[in-house]
Amino acid sequence: ALRQASMQPAFPDLEGHHPCFSTTAEGHAKAARLHLPVSPACNIACAFCRRDFNRVEQRPGVAARLLKPGEAVAVVERALRLIPNLTVVGIAGPGDPLASDHAIDTFARIHARWPELTLCVSTNGLMLPARVDDLHAAGVTTLTVTVNAVDPAIQAAITPKLAWQRKRLDGLAATERLIANQLDGIARAAGLGLTIKINTVLIPTLNDHHIGAVAERVAAAGARMINVIPLIPEHQLAHLREPTFIERHKARAAAARHLKVFTHCQRCRADAAGVPGLTDYTRDLYGDDLVAE
Ligand code: SF4
Ligand code: SF4
Repeated sequence: ALRQASMQPAFPDLEGHHPCFSTTAEGHAKAARLHLPVSPACNIACAFCRRDFNRVEQRPGVAARLLKPGEAVAVVERALRLIPNLTVVGIAGPGDPLASDHAIDTFARIHARWPELTLCVSTNGLMLPARVDDLHAAGVTTLTVTVNAVDPAIQAAITPKLAWQRKRLDGLAATERLIANQLDGIARAAGLGLTIKINTVLIPTLNDHHIGAVAERVAAAGARMINVIPLIPEHQLAHLREPTFIERHKARAAAARHLKVFTHCQRCRADAAGVPGLTDYTRDLYGDDLVAE
């Protein structure tokens, strides 16, 4: 099943047009994406997450600096001149794109000016039920939701606290809310016609036996593809190790019983620009004046 998933286009309309919804090697290498780092804050606290501003680390949660929505529009303008076959503009941090209005504001401006661009967002899903109509209205058509567990007890070790309606929730109260909102948000997004991928961080000892269950539940909610991402041991999970090749293979095989599996993920920065893993225009785009503030 794994082999099949990577050999055949899962989404013929997006194959070769959106690198992260393409399932063949050729399709993945054809189109470029631009990540706009406009979202400063996050509303949940993942134990592995260490957000940072720097120019060197190649991982999610990192950007050289934040952009304001107006600056982001200027960056898109420059990027369209600079980057061949730029078809996708996405927002994936450095915080959560739905924890503040910056991402939706940015998408609306870009969609008004360049309606042909595919707009893509990556979120933890906590605010998805509340914001999915706004995303849809702003022109977003591809959505990634990070779902690391569908069992609140397992999730409590991964995301032990969050902010919900101006209150802090801890433990099971937090994770029951998060999982319910993620599944509800996925179902609503599917109802609006968005194409939905799930990111699941594979965390040895915490959720490595739970990946099939995640895939089953999110598939039932309306997701179409899953991306099992090996943990980068950081922050409160710095004591864990990266999953081995065998563990990654097993997790992907468990997921493949329910969903197409995306296998080309490069764990990109929040300001990545180019074809994932092949070209990197971040420095050309922002110039040398780009430093953390
Ligand atoms: Fe970090 Fe993303 Fe988790 Fe927020 S949702 S804490 S930005 S990994
Ligand atoms: Fe695509 Fe993975 Fe990079 Fe996101 S982190 S843009 S899914 S390659």
